[in-house]
Amino acid sequence: MHCENKYLSRNITKPKYITSLDDIEGLAESERAGLAQVTDKYKFRANEYYLSLIDWDDPDDPIRNLIIPNMRELDEWGRLDPSNEHGYTIMPGLEHKYDSTALLLISSVCGGICRYCFRKRMFINKNEEILTDLPAAIRYIDKHKEITDVLLTGGDPLMLSTGRLREIITAFQQIEHVRIIRIGTKVPAFNPYRILEDSELLDLFESTCNTNTQLYVVVHFNHVRELTDVAVEAVSALRKTGAELANQTPLIRGINDDPQTMADLFQALSFIGVPPYYVFQCRPASGNKGYAMPVEEGYQIIKQANSIVSGLAKRARFTMSHATGKIEVVGLTASHIFLRYHRTADNTDSGKFLIYERNPAAYWLDDYKNPVETFPAERCSK
Ligand code: SF4
Repeated sequence: MHCENKYLSRNITKPKYITSLDDIEGLAESERAGLAQVTDKYKFRANEYYLSLIDWDDPDDPIRNLIIPNMRELDEWGRLDPSNEHGYTIMPGLEHKYDSTALLLISSVCGGICRYCFRKRMFINKNEEILTDLPAAIRYIDKHKEITDVLLTGGDPLMLSTGRLREIITAFQQIEHVRIIRIGTKVPAFNPYRILEDSELLDLFESTCNTNTQLYVVVHFNHVRELTDVAVEAVSALRKTGAELANQTPLIRGINDDPQTMADLFQALSFIGVPPYYVFQCRPASGNKGYAMPVEEGYQIIKQANSIVSGLAKRARFTMSHATGKIEVVGLTASHIFLRYHRTADNTDSGKFLIYERNPAAYWLDDYKNPVETFPAERCSK
């Protein structure tokens, strides 16, 4: 499904960024005044293009829910660093949680601010966690031969200038054991013109792919309505550079919390050559209570969505990005939930299987108490 709107005209190629709710015509005056309390706490940022996707006649519009602040963000819940990223931080902007992957926070800006963002601390403590010492990061990664993947994230790396991106990508490319550079971005959804109007960026990606390093662009579409014609064009331009694409999305109340919506997204992504990679359980981050849904309800939604689509469209793992690792929800019975470590901070947990009694009110691993049984990976394979 592609959305029709005025920005599909290629005459408007630089949508204006909007950081004040006063500049949004669709919001009622009374609503705007109340929401100021929210934006005092958690910043607002959008742009003309993305706002034009909202159906203002629908109070439950998913695009609106994604980008427009909501009073429920003031409900006390969660932490600013729900996955303990701090605990894996080697230096500002460099995290090393999984042996093979170094994660670099290279930008504190996004094309919009998703209301459910799990890194809102970055918009509050601006720049404190951003990589400032690129040479030191290069030295660290160069020394750690086990690092094969460098993940560029933030914020959104594609909000940096192409010149700065080139500097970063070229530097990591020169480290022999770095074979994959991965860019996590929501720019194709928030502002596809950033990609379509910058041939230098596309050239940079193409030249990166023509080396020993494979470039992956992990995009972040949450709803099929974000896949406008121009967004699909941006995805296609990225694919033409030789970059591998994949999509990750959290499962979010009010945005994609029903099986058909998720199935539509999976299917539309598979049609444009973007494999669904992860569906994340919404992290218990401050301000996210109204966006999160219980783990078991989420599992049922993904299971039903998968039952509607073809094999190529059901490749996403439903996963919790827990402080201890990425934990996939693999099954439910009437009495138990089955989980498995997909990535682990501690290698001895790799592939570990966990069984707990069901808890329909659980939002996170920590809400499951007393595992019924855990199996190390080798016993699972027998
Ligand atoms: S694009 Fe990612 S980092 Fe940026 S606001 Fe959305 S969830 Fe947060």
